[in-house]
Amino acid sequence: MSETNKKTKVFFPVIAKEECKGCERCVTACPKSVLRMESGLNAMGHPHAVYIGEACTGCGACFYSCPEPGAITIIEESDDDEKKERK
Ligand code: SF4
Ligand code: SF4
Repeated sequence: MSETNKKTKVFFPVIAKEECKGCERCVTACPKSVLRMESGLNAMGHPHAVYIGEACTGCGACFYSCPEPGAITIIEESDDDEKKERK
C-alpha cells in the first residue's frame, strides 16, 4: 500500500459542558495533558473541563475516569471526513 492510501486519524474529546461536575478527574487522568478546567462556570454552577491543543491520542483515559455519563465523548475522525463516536 502506498503512503497516499493511508488514512490519517485524528482523535479528540468532546466535553458536554452542562454535564460536567468539575471533579477534574479527566484532567488528572490525561497522559497528554490536553485537558484543563475552564475558569467560567456552567449553568449548574460548576467549573468544567475543556480540550486544549491537538495532541489527543484517543486513549480513553478521560472517558473512563469521568463519573458523569455523557460528559465526555471521544471522536475519531479520518481524513476522508468520516467521523465516528469511539467511546
Ligand atoms: S482520550 Fe486520552 S489523550 Fe485524549 S483527551 Fe482523553 S485522556 Fe487525553
Ligand atoms: S471527569 Fe467528567 S465531570 Fe469530572 S471534570 Fe472531567 S468531564 Fe467534568
